[in-house]
Amino acid sequence: MNDLKLFDRVYLVGRGSWGGLLPLTAKLDCNIYLIDGGGELALIDNGEAFNLVKLKKNILAAGLDFNKIKKLIITHDHVDHTANTWLLKKILDAKVFAGRGSYFFLKPDVYVKTGDKIKVGEVTLNVYNTPGHTPDSLCLEANMESKKLLFTGDTAIGDQPWKSKGVVGWYNTAWGSDIKKFKISIKFIKKLSPDIILPGHGLPQMTRKKCAKALENCQKRLAKLGKRPEFESLIPFTFDLKGNKELLVNVKISKRKKRLS
Ligand SMILES: [Zn+2]
Repeated sequence: MNDLKLFDRVYLVGRGSWGGLLPLTAKLDCNIYLIDGGGELALIDNGEAFNLVKLKKNILAAGLDFNKIKKLIITHDHVDHTANTWLLKKILDAKVFAGRGSYFFLKPDVYVKTGDKIKVGEVTLNVYNTPGHTPDSLCLEANMESKKLLFTGDTAIGDQPWKSKGVVGWYNTAWGSDIKKFKISIKFIKKLSPDIILPGHGLPQMTRKKCAKALENCQKRLAKLGKRPEFESLIPFTFDLKGNKELLVNVKISKRKKRLS
């Protein structure tokens, strides 16, 4: 057992400094999860770019064989989740799976949608389209150790320890965010009633009760966001480092260094 292991077949092998967490790979990375299907491995998202040394080291530390990664599954095409895709694909001769509707460059080998299953050795992932943060956003469900695990990407990040409740991915129509679809997707995830949420950033929600509460808070956040006329340019979450107090800040993206989440 090591710190990277979340479940028997799920590892956290990469993470950035989002939320003030200690990075496991490059600072701007999303959470990078590894699924151990026995004969083959898969990554769910893969980080911002060229951080493969640390990523490989973490996989080795988990006692796993980097070269067995044969599937690269993408929750959505944002650079902090996908920039290593093509390098990894080339090195590993792996297949890329993603949803349709990317506003950027990703062209996967296999487009997946609700109802599809992705087999990673002995593990089966159920695919769900959950648009809102982006049109191509996916959630992936796995049943393990009699628990329902849900990889939620940036659709539902949930309650995080710096007192931000119901965090969701950054809302921006420049990459196709859609408030109505976002709300429907969160409602859908809530209905799935996961025991564990493994988000694209931040810490997991580890009980069914915490997942339900976090999703309720995501709904509250989206309701608040939708009422503001300027919501297209809102960063839906941020926090004041001094007071550790949550703020809603209206910032025009063009005037600010891009921060993808
Ligand atoms: Zn994102």
